[in-house]
Amino acid sequence: MTGTAPAPFTADDYRARRERAARTAAEAGLAGLLVAPGPDLVWLTGYAPTAETERLTLLVLVPGRDPVLVVPALEAPDAAKAAGAPGLTLRDWTDGKDPYAATAALLDASGRFGISDNAWAMHLLALQRALPATSYASLTDALPMLRAVKDTAELELLAAAGAAADATFEEIRKVPFGGRHESDVAADLADLLRRFGHSQVDFTIVASGPNGANPHHEVGDRVIERGDMVVLDFGGLKDGYGSDTSRTVHVGEPADEERRVHDLVRAAQEAGFRAVRPGAACQEVDRAARAVIADAGYGEYFIHRTGHGIGVTTHEPPYMIEGEEQPLVPGMCFSVEPGVYLPGRFGVRIEDIVTVTEDGGRRLNDTTREMVIVD
Ligand code: ZN
Ligand code: ZN
Ligand code: ZN
Repeated sequence: MTGTAPAPFTADDYRARRERAARTAAEAGLAGLLVAPGPDLVWLTGYAPTAETERLTLLVLVPGRDPVLVVPALEAPDAAKAAGAPGLTLRDWTDGKDPYAATAALLDASGRFGISDNAWAMHLLALQRALPATSYASLTDALPMLRAVKDTAELELLAAAGAAADATFEEIRKVPFGGRHESDVAADLADLLRRFGHSQVDFTIVASGPNGANPHHEVGDRVIERGDMVVLDFGGLKDGYGSDTSRTVHVGEPADEERRVHDLVRAAQEAGFRAVRPGAACQEVDRAARAVIADAGYGEYFIHRTGHGIGVTTHEPPYMIEGEEQPLVPGMCFSVEPGVYLPGRFGVRIEDIVTVTEDGGRRLNDTTREMVIVD
């Protein structure tokens, strides 16, 4: 899970987030939000229960009422220490008692509620049994932009996580690639991310040669050879906020086509970045990057969306994808990561986290986007 909560936020910050969440829920026609342990709870309260537990912990946000955190009695002291606890009513329950009846008493018996995507099914089923006339929507589907616009302190944490990922790339480009397993380089990446302050490593993709043509390839036992293109894509959480960057390196001197495809992806990434400005629809970022690749005749080899949001998780809304008309707003943070994947041969992906500014975009990753030659 998400580990320690970000430190720089005050009780007032959390209170403001909860008020905004309750207001947005009401505007969306919801009777309230039910927030289980996970990213939304961290963002709304600063509380990140350490262990996965079957005992019900649930933040109940009902517009116009004080927020209530239903929490097992033995975890209540920890919950009370969370940075966002002031302003929360703690409703603790002891083993043997029915937490669902206590929760149901807080809810409109025929309301529609947004519930965390990662809430346990057993909890939702029990609530439905307690209140058969209620209905539920995925919180992310109902309020996709809830956490999308970051404030100044959040942007600083995201920038620091990006800088740590960049420092990781500057070190990994110096290590030997040829003759080592992908998994060895991935282990180096994880060590470096931690050394530069990450508390959680979410992914360390090392996709060499033909493996690079599969964007889902994480890492394997393949021995990296001279002449390989190697897609590196890594990130995780530092001080509660995410990093995610990709660079594609080459072991030794590249062939002409490898260089050409890399230049193409770099141009597409630049075009996507330049499309970032307030008011532009998310899909325009995707279109701008995709057009460059399609115009060069490689459109069928760019087989994923151009980007995803990032914050207290490494993948979240907004998504840079055709059909997403959500306008960009200053403070949004997301990846711009076009790629070209040539089956059986090699792949190239270049990815930066970008934030929307008042008049354009700002990259939170800034290592070179030229092809780096490694040993
Ligand atoms: Zn090559
Ligand atoms: Zn990535
Ligand atoms: Zn990404």
